[in-house]
Amino acid sequence: MNNSLDKFNRLVDALGELPTIGKKSATRLAYHMVMNDSFIGMKISHAIEDALGSLKKCTACGGMSEDELCYVCSDERRDDRLLCIVENAKDILLLEENGLFDGKYFVLEALDTLSISQLEASVSKGVDEVLFALTPSISNDAVILYIEDKLSEYDLNFSKIAQGVPTGVSLENIDLLSLTRALEDRVRV
Ligand SMILES: [Zn+2]
Repeated sequence: MNNSLDKFNRLVDALGELPTIGKKSATRLAYHMVMNDSFIGMKISHAIEDALGSLKKCTACGGMSEDELCYVCSDERRDDRLLCIVENAKDILLLEENGLFDGKYFVLEALDTLSISQLEASVSKGVDEVLFALTPSISNDAVILYIEDKLSEYDLNFSKIAQGVPTGVSLENIDLLSLTRALEDRVRV
């Protein structure tokens, strides 16, 4: 590589580290920003800096937020009795984007004491039903049983997303119709 293009190469390498971006796309994107449209390059650069500096985890649900509480947790019109457990904050974006769910969320990142006590704090605020929107799999069935056991002292109904979501396929790879059906036809567990 030509050393005099160090900075360009560094940009290509950085872009190439992003998921789904290969070397070819990284080069094309970098070239576009540097040579064709420096305005979009600046815009992206500012947007990234801004987002990284202001986004954090909601202290209640673990979802993405710009404030202590995310817009779902602070929305009084949402159904407080329904709590949807997801694996990633990204799954919340997906369900919200499609307007499929009007309850509240909890991101279950781990099964440690801290996560469980945060979950308990969430369900103790008047939750009736806990809906598991986890990728259907044998190991997640075990997770569901574990959580049910941990929450057994609360008066809760448990359900999980139903048929239509194939085993082992994460939520982001499921089409909207299947996901809608899976939420509507949720089964008690
Ligand atoms: Zn939240």
